[in-house]
Amino acid sequence: LYVDHPLGQGQSVPLSREQAHYLFGVMRLSVGAAVLLFNGVDGEWRAEVAEAGKRGGTLVCAARTRPVQMPPDLWLMFAPIKKARTDFIVEKAAEMGARRILPVQTEFTNAGRVQRDRLQAHAVEAAEQCGGTYVPEVADMQRLDRALTGLGDRRLMFCDEALAGAEDTSALPDTPGPWAILIGPEGGFSDKERARLHRMDTAHAVQLGPRILRADTAAVAALTVWQQRLGD
Ligand code: SAM
Repeated sequence: LYVDHPLGQGQSVPLSREQAHYLFGVMRLSVGAAVLLFNGVDGEWRAEVAEAGKRGGTLVCAARTRPVQMPPDLWLMFAPIKKARTDFIVEKAAEMGARRILPVQTEFTNAGRVQRDRLQAHAVEAAEQCGGTYVPEVADMQRLDRALTGLGDRRLMFCDEALAGAEDTSALPDTPGPWAILIGPEGGFSDKERARLHRMDTAHAVQLGPRILRADTAAVAALTVWQQRLGD
């Protein structure tokens, strides 16, 4: 269970109404039951239920079961699409070990505003579901040019189905260190954006096979390729 609270020996952790409902209403736990907790910083802790109520409760940390396992330093940047497909991208990125998830506004991005808190909640659920000890941060949406500037020296795997002379995935350098993946919107990248990406020494254009994939499929494919070549 993810909690937004410090964890440590003997630490009391208050539960929200939703968490109490899940643990005591759905899972039917009672006082004394063990629950595994993580907060993305202090590792995983075995805690015991000290108070169980309908609207809240308290857990007390007993022992650390695992240190925090940081995923590799990989960011996923993507142009948001329809709500359900955007949720899917965030969920899969969290499961596959992206460290940071950045929605970016490109020229052909149709999605309006992105509800960061809702996407962050999806990342939390995905981390809980896959037994992670870390939750990737979902950043606020920012314009592509600003997001690219924010990359600094970070290498970029820029996925583009349409780029003449695009490298295939086997040409991705094995360079370790920080990386980011960039997935475009349904309308693809504009010529101006492609030109900017091409000028970046740190960007590597990548083809994910001969077919045009939907952006959500492309995100999963790109994360898989990156994990296989450069992940740990
Ligand atoms: N508008 C484009 C078209 O119709 O030609 C398709 C864009 S595609 C639906 C959305 C994004 O997924 C692209 O911007 C790219 O980042 C990624 N993508 C899809 N297929 C890909 C492929 N075969 N190789 C690399 N990237 C791909």
